[in-house]
Amino acid sequence: MDLARFDPSEFERIASEARARIASAADEAALEGLRVEYLGKRGVLSLARERLRQLPPEERPAAGRALNAAWEEVERAYEERRAALRAEETRRRLEAERLDLSLPGEPYPLGASHPILRVIEEVEEIFLHLGYSVVEGPEVEWDLYNFERLNIPPDHPARDMQDSFYLAEDVLLRTHTSPVQVRTLLARGGGLPVRIVAPGTVYRRDEDDATHSHMFTQVEGLVVDEGVSLADLKGTLLAFARAFFGEGTRIRLRPSFFPFTEPSVEVDVSCHKCGGAGCNVCKFTGWIEVLGAGMVHPEVLRGAGYDPERVSGFAFGLGVERLAMIKYGVEDVRSFYTGDVRFLRPFRVHA
Ligand SMILES: [Zn+2]
Repeated sequence: MDLARFDPSEFERIASEARARIASAADEAALEGLRVEYLGKRGVLSLARERLRQLPPEERPAAGRALNAAWEEVERAYEERRAALRAEETRRRLEAERLDLSLPGEPYPLGASHPILRVIEEVEEIFLHLGYSVVEGPEVEWDLYNFERLNIPPDHPARDMQDSFYLAEDVLLRTHTSPVQVRTLLARGGGLPVRIVAPGTVYRRDEDDATHSHMFTQVEGLVVDEGVSLADLKGTLLAFARAFFGEGTRIRLRPSFFPFTEPSVEVDVSCHKCGGAGCNVCKFTGWIEVLGAGMVHPEVLRGAGYDPERVSGFAFGLGVERLAMIKYGVEDVRSFYTGDVRFLRPFRVHA
């Protein structure tokens, strides 16, 4: 451009050419090349600015204004094109990364509700509907509550049947949930009625095999009030058996012995698989043993501050593993504790 013969329309021509090229720049690299070409240190407009000094002084202001106008126009075109290219790039990337939420999902597994926990919750639910409360007791227990207050003195042979984990001379891992009976009665201080279930883990020194474990789970039940009879116990257990195993389930009571109940019974339920006809589940007897129960021994009531002449009660102890094995067809009790995910998979919670 020959600035010796200055013509303002020259800058307009340069600006309009630059604007057209910038508007069609295909990408940011091309755009940057155009910026350098026009506005860079050695760019067309930068060089023109240097040459303005060669103009006669009277022409410089008009030429300067024309140059500035052209410069601003090119700069604006550059900014606009850059914004447009970036918006386009963002749109393209979002399109490429778009998640198709309409596809069927493979939800992250929520894990499994352990069958032992499931049974405990189901048992609790049934007894809550019957007006019971759920209470808990410690797994590390005094000999006093685990044995003595349950009418099992130090030399009683029943202690051998529960060969135990002692932590000190008078402290052990509880061998049953029955000490919660004692704790509850002492805490109630003679108050009536008492209606509780107490789930929890218990420990006995036992060889582990398909049906025995040194650690297992019980749900204790206790009712104390005026005029409670064995018929109330039977009716309660029948209601429980029907709620847990299904309508039509029958129960039978067989005489048994526990030091802390008198009389004591073993309770069988009719086999849910064969309905009583006999099958491999019930060992062809038609019945499955599920719990021990009885009327609370007068000594237990007296020891906890209740007058056995005035009040009576019943107690029962459910074996949770046994209920779970029957309900879910589990053959080896050790499956509950080995943490094998293949065993737990059918119990998985689905979203
Ligand atoms: Zn059967």
